Amino acid sequence: MPTNWAGNLTFSAARVHRPADLAELRAVVAAGRRVKALGSGHSFSDIADTEGELVELSALPAEIDLDSAAGTVRVAAAVRYAELARVLHAHGRALPNMASLPHISVAGSVATGTHGSGDANGGLATSVRALDLVTADGDTRTFSHDSDGDTFDGAVVSLGALGVVTHLTLATVPAFQLRQRVRTGLELSDATEHFDAITGAAYSVSLFTDWRAPRFGQVWLKQLADAPEADLPWTRPADGPLHPVPGADPVHCTPQDGRAGPWHERLPHFRAGFTPSSGEELQSEYLLPRTNAVAALHALAELRATVAPVLQICEIRTVAADRLWLSPAHGRDTVALHFTWIKDPAAVAPVLTAVEAALAPLDPRPHWGKLFRTDPARIRAAYPRMADFLALAERTDPAGTFRNDYLRRLTST
Ligand SMILES: Cc1cc2nc3c(=O)[nH]c(=O)nc-3n(C[C@H](O)[C@H](O)[C@H](O)COP(=O)(O)OP(=O)(O)OC[C@H]3O[C@@H](n4cnc5c(N)ncnc54)[C@H](O)[C@@H]3O)c2cc1C
Repeated sequence: MPTNWAGNLTFSAARVHRPADLAELRAVVAAGRRVKALGSGHSFSDIADTEGELVELSALPAEIDLDSAAGTVRVAAAVRYAELARVLHAHGRALPNMASLPHISVAGSVATGTHGSGDANGGLATSVRALDLVTADGDTRTFSHDSDGDTFDGAVVSLGALGVVTHLTLATVPAFQLRQRVRTGLELSDATEHFDAITGAAYSVSLFTDWRAPRFGQVWLKQLADAPEADLPWTRPADGPLHPVPGADPVHCTPQDGRAGPWHERLPHFRAGFTPSSGEELQSEYLLPRTNAVAALHALAELRATVAPVLQICEIRTVAADRLWLSPAHGRDTVALHFTWIKDPAAVAPVLTAVEAALAPLDPRPHWGKLFRTDPARIRAAYPRMADFLALAERTDPAGTFRNDYLRRLTST
């Protein structure tokens, strides 16, 4: 049985299927009592697991069809962002943003509300204009922005609950160039005092800290090539390339020397050419209203002694508000507090509880694809359209074919 990328989860499915065409996929889904689509397996939780049929789509044709007139691209679900980005760039097109790693599948990333950074950049799912699904009875169905209106906003970040997505249509933008630079020496007091100036200093900004006092950390700035270089007087330029984790070899990181380069070779932190097959890490992330960013940094600073021993690195990013019902940035400009932990679930678990308790007053929403221990009732309460989503899932999948333990926990009392 396959494991997820991090190797902390072995899928418990009865069978794994790799259909070679749509007809085979439809037959597998129609015949299955419990079915779940697996993307590239980069989630850390059991969100993609099932006790029944696990369906992997990488044997389906890896279509990437550009519609130049509409400025959209229709892409097969299992295509990974690295591959999509290369094709788009070759045709003079781009996506507005990417996650830190380009090896993740488009459908899986969209289903979990995956995001990059940037005050004005929405999560990756905000590019979706239509989704083609195989529903539980083996039929096909399209949800589109144009035909389904508000319901479409519910169908995009789906947690895999509505069906098996076969294709996504994404809006594209003209290809653009970015320069990446890294600055160091940021103190916590300056990070909190100048938070808006720092996150607004470039197209996409990430702060990194290992919460080991007294220093705070690095600022990664991905700036449009024709925009001026940010002036952040509370930091100094890095002496050379850096990995986000202090002391780790930056050889696989994207260039940080300020040279202009294509968007897809600067937006991810890690190069597409480097394919990590498994990870020596666990991850968690909490997305809060950005108005709570400074309070959250102070709350985490109080927890340094608890967090630091099991932490590899903490990344702080911003995401623009969107309308997607289950997007962690739904309805609010967002600050995302990400934790890359050591790969020791037992040691990390109590720290998650402590972090969640500290952030609880600040309206956190856990990343759907990462590890969390938040009470399901709190998660449901954090999403104003949760009841509408659960009703949509019930209508679209009345027999609960795509329900799994993860979704059952989410709806449990
Ligand atoms: C090293 C690393 C870096 C990461 N960086 C970021 C980051 O920068 N930002 C961020 O927000 N997250 C990040 N993540 C988290 C990651 O983006 C999510 O876990 C995402 O879901 C990964 O996509 P996947 O294809 O691996 O999904 P999977 O883990 O395979 O699946 C996730 C969910 O999507 C559903 N799904 C997958 N394919 C389909 C389909 N065809 N139809 C219907 N449902 C489907 C699954 O059923 C499941 O519910 C990172 C993860 C790792 C390991």
